[in-house]
Amino acid sequence: MINKEQPLLMNQSKKGRKAINLPKSGVPESKLPDSKFLRKEIQLPEVAQLDLIRYFTNLSSLNFSIDTNFYPLGSCTMKYNPKINEQIAAIDGFASSHPNQSDDNIQGNLEIMYDLQNELGEITGLPAVSLAPLAGAQGEYAGLLIAREYHSQNNQEHKNIALIPDSAHGTNPASASMAGLEAVTIKTTKEGDIDLEDLKNKVNENVAVLMLTLPSTLGLFEPNILEITKVIHDNGGLVYADGANLNALLGITKFGELGIDICHSNLHKTFSTPHGGGGPGSGPVMVAKFLEKYLPYPHIKKDGNKFRNYKPEYSVGRLNGFYGSFGILVRAYAYIRSLGAEGLKEISENAIINANYIQERLKDHYELTSSRRCMHETVLSASRQKEDGVKAIDIAKKLLDEGFHAPTMYFPLIVEEALMIEPTESESKETIDKFIKSMIKISELSKSNPKEIINAPIFLPVERLDEAKAARNPVLAWEKK
Ligand SMILES: *Cc1c(COP(=O)(O)O)cnc(C)c1O
Repeated sequence: MINKEQPLLMNQSKKGRKAINLPKSGVPESKLPDSKFLRKEIQLPEVAQLDLIRYFTNLSSLNFSIDTNFYPLGSCTMKYNPKINEQIAAIDGFASSHPNQSDDNIQGNLEIMYDLQNELGEITGLPAVSLAPLAGAQGEYAGLLIAREYHSQNNQEHKNIALIPDSAHGTNPASASMAGLEAVTIKTTKEGDIDLEDLKNKVNENVAVLMLTLPSTLGLFEPNILEITKVIHDNGGLVYADGANLNALLGITKFGELGIDICHSNLHKTFSTPHGGGGPGSGPVMVAKFLEKYLPYPHIKKDGNKFRNYKPEYSVGRLNGFYGSFGILVRAYAYIRSLGAEGLKEISENAIINANYIQERLKDHYELTSSRRCMHETVLSASRQKEDGVKAIDIAKKLLDEGFHAPTMYFPLIVEEALMIEPTESESKETIDKFIKSMIKISELSKSNPKEIINAPIFLPVERLDEAKAARNPVLAWEKK
């Protein structure tokens, strides 16, 4: 497998070896640039081409990815992205078109954007869509600006509060604050739902929006959703759903039918764009018809038989220079069209079954957060293992030794020693069974030999890092000792 003894390129350096021979120059030599640009302290290794190729090829094989192993990182939907969608996004007419081409010149691309707007509108039940936001967090920001602009156009400028449950993703209060709203926290009940009493106490005429995640970050469907959206509407507020992750809802229910007015969704989670390396992303914002005139632009409209780029009347403005992450839009379009309505529904059914299968098989070994059935992810607590001195982070590290990516840890913040597991629909029962077996083995080890977990990982090229030191004093480049 992985060779821990892989030598550093620097240590293979032999004076005079070269990875490339440049042809003889056919032009007169000119002086090298000012020597201040030539840094003597960077002693680059001198190696042959084969050494170089082996070095980087071996390094690349150390990368963990969804294409190599199971990646149950909750709230991230690390599912398989069919390769056909990559091929389609790479077609010349998509990949080589330039954002400064005129609308007439890119009718096909605009048509795809128009169709994707409609599809996302249909999937979420919120028919007015802008594909502009470049990430989930930017979609949130756009949606909250829309809520603010709506209240402002209705002479309700005093509405400046965003109610946000304490289980929310960290981007929610951050986006509210960026949009000039004050974030007020709503409690979660022991069962993992929004605390209705707390909500009713905190709602007043200054509430601009309630921002909730559905299913919640505990992986639960909110049973009081209809009552919650009614309470907010009765007070003149709007309801925002963080739909970063739609894997539990596709073809099963729609935000628009639950009284939600605004949502965003992450195409790089639910709709087939590889992610995990830090970008690019795409987080379209979807709103009810009465909010269409506030959408960010570009927003694509059909004018007769022409597709054109359009700026809504009270638009909150532009979020980026051009059309958003167009390549990601093409992947999402290809993904949705290849699955169809039936296929999308099957995704959610299987994602939910897989998560519940894990929850059910692990419930005797780990503490569950809720006794209810979960949706597309389950949140376990390592509180029992903690009694043996084994924490969630240790379990996560031991899973790396077992060949799995770690689940999301310590989120949601309200769960002690949280391990948030999202298997997605794309994993086979055999893979999920192997994961369950490892989880049970770790739980048993925490009693018999906790040290083996606390010292993990031991089989990987990099052993347990000092997390504080790694963050405060990162060594990012080779340094001569
Ligand atoms: C991932 C995620 C976000 C943020 O999306 P980014 O694209 O990383 O900005 C927001 N909310 C939830 C629930 C998420 O899972």
